[in-house]
Amino acid sequence: MAIEQAYVESHPGSAALARRAGAVLPSGVTHDSRYLRPFGIYVDRAAGARKWDVDGHEYIDYVMGHGSLLLGHSHPAVTEAAMAQLARGTHYGASHEREIEWAEEVVRIVPSAEAVRFTSSGTEATLMALRIARAASGRPAVLKFDRHFHGWHDYVVGASSYGSKAPAGVPESTLESVVVVPPDLATVRETLAGRPDVGAVIVESAGASSGAVPLPRGFNAELARIAHERGALFIMDEVVTGFRWSPGGVQQIEGVTPDLTALAKILAGGLPGGAVAGRRDLLERLAFPLDPGVGKPEKIGHPGTFNANPLSATAGVTCLRTIADGQAQERASALAGRLRAGMNRELARMGVPGVVYGQASAFRVIVGRGTPPAPVDIDPRDLPADLLAGGMAGEVQRLLVLAMLNRGVHLFGNSGLTSAVHTDADIAQTLDAWAGSLAALREEGVL
Ligand code: PMP
Repeated sequence: MAIEQAYVESHPGSAALARRAGAVLPSGVTHDSRYLRPFGIYVDRAAGARKWDVDGHEYIDYVMGHGSLLLGHSHPAVTEAAMAQLARGTHYGASHEREIEWAEEVVRIVPSAEAVRFTSSGTEATLMALRIARAASGRPAVLKFDRHFHGWHDYVVGASSYGSKAPAGVPESTLESVVVVPPDLATVRETLAGRPDVGAVIVESAGASSGAVPLPRGFNAELARIAHERGALFIMDEVVTGFRWSPGGVQQIEGVTPDLTALAKILAGGLPGGAVAGRRDLLERLAFPLDPGVGKPEKIGHPGTFNANPLSATAGVTCLRTIADGQAQERASALAGRLRAGMNRELARMGVPGVVYGQASAFRVIVGRGTPPAPVDIDPRDLPADLLAGGMAGEVQRLLVLAMLNRGVHLFGNSGLTSAVHTDADIAQTLDAWAGSLAALREEGVL
């Protein structure tokens, strides 16, 4: 049976909810990445590495809370702590000890973090990091990289995956203060030499789209050096890589010290939360002056109703304490490596062009382009840049996602993330689903 037909017939409950959603939610969804034709699955519950939809299907989950669930769904320690907190209140409208503990964990784990300011999301974290950098440098412009994703606020949506001109609703004038360049150090050097108004450089620390287009070796260290040489601040966006690539993120692995770091996702243990962490003198720009007036730099204002709310703080503290020793990351990364290798083995065996690659516990899928890969886990920095930048055709991706759902696996579009609670049995089951899905795509004439 055709892939889409099989999906529609076996998901009547999701279809009904999608119809209802369409009446009140644009395209029926609440996050662009959840849009799927003819409709996405509606999930009823989740536990560990699995989730169940309203039609009773069980899935191995590789979306993993968009990367926030390194410990899997409903991790017992995080759940227990959050439930206890829920009963003690979710918003005190006052300070509480948990926010201090949360900040202390960040300072302990993230190498460059001397002080922390919590936000409610990663988008807010990059917005605040850029604001602090602009205030501290006294320069209005920032430099970002082509296709590097930093959330959806006005300063960063230009030339991300949304396209290369000002996106709908964003004034051109906003983007005049954002210089977008390809991730090439010679271009950065040249651009900064000609734009003394640039006060900050922000980078997705593993490369565009969580490492889908990886950075050349040594890129971050040299970028930090060039930025500092020109008096600009260096911001690492570790919203995805933080606490995942290693406890201390990419900066720990590469020994690079950013001035500011944007954090979110795993930070809050599966609840909403973000943070800017970094140099104390920079974070002090948020502090109230002890002696208002004379010679003090202007304070940066920062309200935010749910900043460091007790529930997110509690989940975050529990999660960070659980993952601080690096074992969860090692386990998730090893599983992802075996999955990537296994998926490439299958592509090679079937002679299907494409590749599955990634860093740490992330993987990205390309099928239908290039040549069949080597049957191993491939370092993405050894793959052709145009293959990685081009990705997979939209219709191939759609049918692949549907075919995998038909076989009990939920990919995150063209990518996925493992957690510390996926198992080798999950990997084996996923590889069966993968082989079956590739065969289905071939039968349908897509591959
Ligand atoms: N930066 C990066 C690198 C991200 O991947 C994301 C979200 N996927 C964000 C920032 C924005 O985070 P949030 O969705 O919490 O606003």
